[in-house]
Amino acid sequence: MTIVLDPRCTAYHQPGHPEKPNRVARTADLLKSQKSLPIRWAEPVEVADALLLLGHSPAHLARMKVEAPFDADTPWHPDIEGHARRSVGAAVRAMELAVSGEPAFALMRPPGHHAERHRAMGFCYYSSMALAALEAKSRGLGPVAVFDFDVHHGNGTEDCLKGVDGVAFASVHQGDAYPGTGQADVGPNCFNHPVPGGSPRTTWRWALEKAWQRLLATRPRLIGISAGFDAYSKDPLANGTLEREDFQMLGQWARASGVPTFAVLEGGYSLDLPDLVLHFLLGWEGG
Ligand SMILES: [Zn+2]
Repeated sequence: MTIVLDPRCTAYHQPGHPEKPNRVARTADLLKSQKSLPIRWAEPVEVADALLLLGHSPAHLARMKVEAPFDADTPWHPDIEGHARRSVGAAVRAMELAVSGEPAFALMRPPGHHAERHRAMGFCYYSSMALAALEAKSRGLGPVAVFDFDVHHGNGTEDCLKGVDGVAFASVHQGDAYPGTGQADVGPNCFNHPVPGGSPRTTWRWALEKAWQRLLATRPRLIGISAGFDAYSKDPLANGTLEREDFQMLGQWARASGVPTFAVLEGGYSLDLPDLVLHFLLGWEGG
C-alpha cells in the first residue's frame, strides 16, 4: 500500500471550519506509527493546466486565481489554487500506482468531489477524482469506474463525468443532506443511490453493495474510490450509520474485485477519521 501525501496540504485553514488540517495530519501520524500495515510513501505528480481542462472550464481555472470566497463553505486561502492542484496530482499519482499494480491512497486536502466543471463549492476546488479518471481514460487505461461512498453526493465528479464514454460513476449518499443532488441516475453512466438520513446500517450497506455491483457490471479495468468517511455513525456533519468495520468491508471489496484500484480522501470529520482510514486500508490489504 502506498500513501500519496504532500505535507504542504496542512498549511491552510480557516478557524471553525470542519475541513481542518488535523484531519490529514492525525491520519498520517497514525499510519506512520502503526505496525499492522506496511506502507510506502509517494508524492503528487506535477499537474499542468491541460490536465485540469479535461474536467474544468477555462473560466473555472481563471476564477481559481481570484482572491475571493467561492461560497459560504469554500473560502479563498493563500495558494489555494496550488493546494487544489496538488490534490489533483496526488489522485493522478495514486492512479498511476494502481495501474502499475500497487494499491494507493491519496491522503490530501482539499477534497474534490463537490467541485463542478465551472465552479468550486462544498470545501472542494478541483474535482481530483474525476480528473484522475479522465486522465486514465485519455491514456487508454479505461474503462474506468468511480465509486463514491462519501455521505454527500459527489455532484462535482458527476458533473465532470456525466455522458463520458468509458467512465462510470456511482455515488451512495445521504439523499436529504448537502448538496441535495443525486436523487436519480444521470445519463447512461452516473448511478445515484440516495439513502435517507438515519437509515439503519443494513440499509446503507445494501445501497453500497448495489452501487458497487452496478459498477463492476461495467467491467472496469481501473477503479477509483472517492473515500469519504462521513457516513460514519459519529460524524458531526451528517446522519449516516456506518461503523468502522463497514469501511474495512469496503476495502475488502476493492481487493476482492481483482481490478487495479486507487482511492482519494474526500470527507470525514469525526475524531475517529484516522482509525476509519486505517481500517479501510487494512481491509483493502487483505485484513
Ligand atoms: Zn462529505
